[in-house]
Amino acid sequence: MKSFIKPRIVISKCIEFESCRYNGQIIRSEIINTLKPHVEFLPICAEVEIGLGVPRDPIRIIEKHAKKFLVQPKTGRDVTTEMLSFTQRFLSSLQGIEGFLLKSQSPSCGTRDVKIYPAVLHSAPVRREAGFLGEQVLQRFPQLAIEDEMRLQNPIIRQHYFTKIFTLAAFRSVKDTASLQQLLQFHTENKYLLMGYSQKELSILGNILANQDKQPLPNVFSEYEHHLFMAFLKAPRYTSQINVLNHAFGYISQKLTAAEKQFYSDIIEKYRNGQMPFSVPINLVRSWVIRFEQPYLIPQTFFEPYPNQLLDAEALKVTEVRDFWK
Ligand code: SF4
Repeated sequence: MKSFIKPRIVISKCIEFESCRYNGQIIRSEIINTLKPHVEFLPICAEVEIGLGVPRDPIRIIEKHAKKFLVQPKTGRDVTTEMLSFTQRFLSSLQGIEGFLLKSQSPSCGTRDVKIYPAVLHSAPVRREAGFLGEQVLQRFPQLAIEDEMRLQNPIIRQHYFTKIFTLAAFRSVKDTASLQQLLQFHTENKYLLMGYSQKELSILGNILANQDKQPLPNVFSEYEHHLFMAFLKAPRYTSQINVLNHAFGYISQKLTAAEKQFYSDIIEKYRNGQMPFSVPINLVRSWVIRFEQPYLIPQTFFEPYPNQLLDAEALKVTEVRDFWK
């Protein structure tokens, strides 16, 4: 079985780690529980860290004269300074992490959908944006994988997030070896995955490794890392994924019957039209890669970018559907 380096992810402590929400509750998440054996989580609760107890009166963000404040309406307490100094200190201390998994809608942890109020006691928010910690995370670590537990429910966002954190973790371990040979191997094994993400960045990464201007090795690593981050900024487009599948198919098509080839092209068309998930064509091609023992394709991370057990969250839903029909 393929082994994976555990990604290091900062997570809001109230998601499956501790009952530290303002009301003393915990957020349950099947996805986080599935991830736990495969990820090194660093749980943190900013509100507890700044001395607000559990349970506590909720806090909210208010905006006055174009400046944001974090206040506790019931007590009138303003914790803006405490929160700002905690986030500075905490985020500066982080090293060797691949991403963040933060609680949605929290005035501290939220990354995009936090209510901003015009006054302490005003009940209607004027808009939604990032919370205090979430905003700093986005500003300081734009290249890393940053998501909230709600968005992770979306299969495309989840696949992209899992792929990114495991690829960046693998790169971290290669970087630790400071070996050009290891970096070349990393690049070779990730070629198809990168092709699906960005042809442009794949070609830049190849040029960095060719190292025409004889850069010292640390520069090669840091340039490579920068463009690796660029490649993973967005989830891959389905057309690029089809392109990669067709590339792989080119290696094996001559060994297939006419009926198998037709079957493949029907499946690709269904995937293109949104009638079939990506897992169908990729597993079909992968089965042929295994059957024909394609030495170049077998190690490609494109076919297994993260541990198979992480597909369980999806599988559980299938089981629920089956149970319904019993
Ligand atoms: S959202 Fe963040 S600050 Fe709020 S309880 Fe959860 S971890 Fe603590």
